[in-house]
Amino acid sequence: MIYLDNAATTKPCEDACRAVMRGMELFGNPSSLHSLGLEAEMLISEQREIVADALGALPKEIIFTSGATESSNTAIFGAYAAHGKRKKRIVTTTVEHPSVANPIAKLEQLGCEVIKLSPDENGEIPPQQVLAAVNDDTFLVSIMLVNNETGALFNVGSAFAMIKKRYPQVLLHCDCVQGFMKLPFTVKKLGADLISLSGHKIYAPKGVGALYVKNGVHLPPFMLGGGQENGARSGTESVPLICGFGAAVKALSGKVESSLEAAREVQKHLVQKCGENEGVSVNLIGGSPYITSIAVQGLKSEVLLHFLEKKGIFVSSGSACSKGKKSSVIKEFHVPEKLSDSVLRISISTQTTKQDIDTLLEAIAEAQGSLARIKQ
Ligand code: PLP
Repeated sequence: MIYLDNAATTKPCEDACRAVMRGMELFGNPSSLHSLGLEAEMLISEQREIVADALGALPKEIIFTSGATESSNTAIFGAYAAHGKRKKRIVTTTVEHPSVANPIAKLEQLGCEVIKLSPDENGEIPPQQVLAAVNDDTFLVSIMLVNNETGALFNVGSAFAMIKKRYPQVLLHCDCVQGFMKLPFTVKKLGADLISLSGHKIYAPKGVGALYVKNGVHLPPFMLGGGQENGARSGTESVPLICGFGAAVKALSGKVESSLEAAREVQKHLVQKCGENEGVSVNLIGGSPYITSIAVQGLKSEVLLHFLEKKGIFVSSGSACSKGKKSSVIKEFHVPEKLSDSVLRISISTQTTKQDIDTLLEAIAEAQGSLARIKQ
């Protein structure tokens, strides 16, 4: 099997699997006052320190959640609950993941004014443009670090620094799901008040993530109940999943730069190999080397995806967001209309080799010779 759909999810690493088992064995409720509860509580504290360390944050700034969708919903609806009565404007982009775009769309229905910025020809959103969209009526800015469909990397750090200087009261949220443990950044460099993270994109299990909330920022809790996570997120903590998340982060810690270098080499190889095939174009807009979108001219991406799957190669169709539902993101990145149905997303992991890429390109060449072409 050659798995090149790591932006969708990753295979849990061995350390994460072992840690999940350990979290199951130590089955106490972290809120219980007896020793079993204390043991579970201590396990969670350890993982909180690991995740905080990886971000350059304080442990108390990390809230464990069920994943980035919950983290972003908590951040966005929390910002609205805190400030939405007095202020109305939200600044975001046209290419956010639905876990950010849909809560913001909901707030638009509730009367917020939403300014959505589109990437320019180079796939960038200049920080000056973000600053220009913010005004005194703005309470939230939400911009992702790395786009999940194209790998585009936004200069969030510069945009947030400019905004904080002129509008210190505005809450700054960043969906860092596709950048965490893949690109080197710290909360200080990013300058965000709120950061969403997900476990299953970094070799941890699904159903766990975190929200970073900068010390001093107070959001009303989104989940009400027993007051776990210091009152910020009620619900008994999933000790096994949190252990898996912590173990996966620990396994990657100290290796972000070297893995990034290796990923750049694999991406360079992919671009070179695509260049040798006239029918394949690479929509390289600069950014994370872990995600590359390519278009195989004349072949529908879904058809090619299933052809590759039969050969044990797993990729994603670039224009499909969720279960084949069309996404507008590819269009927003100025991919020519005639190619938009042919985009494949190749997303690599720390385990992907150049040999894997060669096998992918050989299979694509075979498909070009045998599959029916789209009428253009
Ligand atoms: N944000 C981005 C950029 C993503 O790629 C994803 C997952 O596809 C999410 C958020 C949602 O993460 P989760 O599955 O942890 O809710």
